[in-house]
Amino acid sequence: MTAALEMTRLGYACTLLEARGSAGGRVLTLRAGDVVNEVDSSQSCQFDFDEDLYFNAGPSRIAQHHESLLGYCREFGVKLEAFTNDNRGAWLHSPGAFDGQPQVARRLLADTRGGIAELLSTAINQDALDQALTEADKANILAMLRQFGDLDINNSYSGTPRAGFPGQENVGGRQRGELLPARRLQDLVTEFFWELRLSFSQGFDQQPVMLQPAGGMDRIARAFESRVVDDIVFEAEVTEVRKTADGTRVIYEDRSGTSSTLEADYCIVTIPAPVLAGIANDFSAAHQAEIAGFQYSSAVRVAFQAPRFWEREHNIYGGITWTDQDITQIWYPNHGFQRETGILVGAYIFDGAAGNRFTDMPPATRIDTTTAQASNVHPQIRDQASNGISVAWKKMPFQRGGWGMSNPSVLLTADDSIVFAGEHLSILPGWQEGAILSAYSAIDQIVDRDRGA
Ligand SMILES: Cc1cc2nc3c(=O)[nH]c(=O)nc-3n(C[C@H](O)[C@H](O)[C@H](O)COP(=O)(O)OP(=O)(O)OC[C@H]3O[C@@H](n4cnc5c(N)ncnc54)[C@H](O)[C@@H]3O)c2cc1C
Repeated sequence: MTAALEMTRLGYACTLLEARGSAGGRVLTLRAGDVVNEVDSSQSCQFDFDEDLYFNAGPSRIAQHHESLLGYCREFGVKLEAFTNDNRGAWLHSPGAFDGQPQVARRLLADTRGGIAELLSTAINQDALDQALTEADKANILAMLRQFGDLDINNSYSGTPRAGFPGQENVGGRQRGELLPARRLQDLVTEFFWELRLSFSQGFDQQPVMLQPAGGMDRIARAFESRVVDDIVFEAEVTEVRKTADGTRVIYEDRSGTSSTLEADYCIVTIPAPVLAGIANDFSAAHQAEIAGFQYSSAVRVAFQAPRFWEREHNIYGGITWTDQDITQIWYPNHGFQRETGILVGAYIFDGAAGNRFTDMPPATRIDTTTAQASNVHPQIRDQASNGISVAWKKMPFQRGGWGMSNPSVLLTADDSIVFAGEHLSILPGWQEGAILSAYSAIDQIVDRDRGA
């Protein structure tokens, strides 16, 4: 849709062929009554009808520097609100650590920083670093480390109010004035899991502040759609992409199987590679080989409707709890705070064996497995979560994967009059911003050619 919008602005006439009955592709927001048709199952969304009860089964967050996407939001008037990745009041959980008890992120983070700061202070004070530090450097770094880790005047770490207080520490603790015992750094870093998850929001694309459209991610797709809708042919499944003497020919079928043909000077192919691999074409052998070998993630999401026990009982408002069980993440809604119910994402699996295991399960088994694993973190889920629904992206027709995981090369160049685009062919795979940037690159290729550049 980005390519069509901007090409139209440049004076080109465009036609979009979209296999489904609505536009947006992976930008899928589920609400009451929506239906999820995977290749071998069908689910219907049983959430209550309510503007806050939606599930972004695909994209959910936008980095503050995804400026092309955010620019369209500004232009289209799509209202944005904050999205929280890093909630210090959310938890980390591993069945094999701390007797399987979830640990509140603030405590792990405070103790990790305290331990690192104490260790480095000790080394500096013992002149144990190879690097030569002046006395002024040492004093400055020691002062910074005292702040960084909340060390005492002797540069020791023995706990901090930053970690919360004793007495129901997973809700913040109520015995202010007393400190929680400091955990030793050595004990915290034995598990790669803690380190990895505590660092998640350090990533350039995951840093606070993140954003989300109010009302669901598909608000953006709908805004795009309304601007190009006159040029979209819905339920037009492309079955062949051919080269002609002076351009391209695309064959597509409607729902009844009736074929139509469209001839054009250029064709921008944004079909995900696993789907494209099954479509008859005249691409070069090198383009075909790269399409056939392109790997996609086996991302899976599972969501429930539930009364907001996480807010009422645990003071968790948005953000992510991490677990090293297959379900990987529990996401709390970042909107509709303190309403009676909300949509809880009970599992968000990026990829790997866990993603494949969940993809292979029938939807009912995904719900049962998510309920069992998520209940190890929040026992309330077993009795209070209902109306579960899941999306396994490798089983979604016209997608067949979460996001591209191969490094593109040949597909970045046009094959005669056929140009390729999509998130998988960008420097930001797995992001909407990447899909937009790849559309810009496709447009550049066409415009340069028309200008004889
Ligand atoms: C679980 C998950 C989480 C994500 N999280 C985020 C996030 O938080 N933030 C973010 O910015 N991005 C996120 N993404 C990535 C984002 O969704 C994608 O990068 C982006 O939507 C891809 O856009 P696209 O146009 O390249 O592909 P798509 O959206 O897949 O569009 C391809 C289109 O081609 C159509 N099509 C396929 N086959 C045919 C055919 N034969 N004939 C006609 N039409 C066809 C499809 O129906 C679809 O409309 C996430 C993705 C997933 C799956």
